[in-house]
Amino acid sequence: MTVSAITLRLSDQSRLRASEWRALIYTAIENGINSFQIDGASAPLLQGAAEAFASVERRLLFLTWRVREEAGQFTAAVVETMMTSAFDDLGLDYLDLVLLNDPLGPDLPAAAGDVLRTLHQGRAIRGLGVASRGDVDPALTRSGLVTALSSPFNLSSGWAERNRVRAAVSQNLAVIGEDFWPQALRELGSKPLFQKPSLWRRRSDPLADVGGYDFLTGTQGWSAEEICLGYALTEPSLATVQITADTQAEVERLAAVVERDLPNGVCAQIEMARFSAQERERAASQR
Ligand code: C2E
Ligand code: C2E
Repeated sequence: MTVSAITLRLSDQSRLRASEWRALIYTAIENGINSFQIDGASAPLLQGAAEAFASVERRLLFLTWRVREEAGQFTAAVVETMMTSAFDDLGLDYLDLVLLNDPLGPDLPAAAGDVLRTLHQGRAIRGLGVASRGDVDPALTRSGLVTALSSPFNLSSGWAERNRVRAAVSQNLAVIGEDFWPQALRELGSKPLFQKPSLWRRRSDPLADVGGYDFLTGTQGWSAEEICLGYALTEPSLATVQITADTQAEVERLAAVVERDLPNGVCAQIEMARFSAQERERAASQR
């Protein structure tokens, strides 16, 4: 099936009422989003989501359930509660993907592995994915059971992260890109990473101001968040980019980025900023 370029994460942190959740999800669907990640279990979230999902043919939606238990606490009982919520509260008869924390080993968490396999064989769970910020054990992905990886990917991703994402694609894993607007870039406005040269200082080095991230705040018609999302959307290795949004206006604004092309000048500036960051990384490691 086709999974939309953007996946909307539905989290308890948003504290919306059921009717607000419903409206948020309708807005997402109307704006071309068919992929949702349920990362919470509050009654209003499940009720609002159930109502919204019921209005669309199930096969047109891609629904992921995020399990946040640590491997040691991820038991058969946790899986049972998850499936009860999915079946009874959300009114679903299957989940497209169950996403768990990286078990940090060659197999699924022992206590939940068998029941997950059974549900997978019975097609109640169509796929399993792992969320990680490190290297996933290759035996786990070779087993054929894990078909997706959720990893940070953004403008400031270094080589390790980029290579990890590309290697996952070459292993036929679908990659969900997270954290498209990382904290470090979000704080740029308030706490600049790179000081602009003072007007009084001579710019003897022609490259002195090249490679900064000024374009994030100085590009007309684009906010820093939109540029970062636009960048993640251009990465061919990502099957979908995960966003979190609390309001309908935010969903509309972010969904609109899918239809927009980043200005050419910005693409060049991103590459320069990345090149400079990489050079600084190299210089620092040699010091
Ligand atoms: P944790 O929640 O027990 O997660 C353990 C490891 O599972 C993480 O190690 C990471 O490799 C993976 N993981 C968990 N959640 C995610 C996720 O949403 N996306 C991805 N891609 N991987 C995930 P890591 O990165 O070293 O984090 C260590 C601990 O730091 C986490 O333990 C958590 O307690 C905290 N932490 C890290 N990032 C966040 C965050 O954004 N929010 C919160 N609330 N805690 C965080
Ligand atoms: P949150 O905890 O409210 O974090 C929101 C955003 O702040 C994250 O977006 C990330 O950009 C930044 N952030 C928070 N903690 C850390 C950190 O320890 N290190 C870094 N580098 N950045 C951090 P993101 O990654 O899209 O995560 C969205 C939400 O997913 C988080 O909201 C949290 O609820 C959940 N989450 C993500 N990673 C983890 C994790 O490792 N463990 C747990 N328990 N939850 C996580």
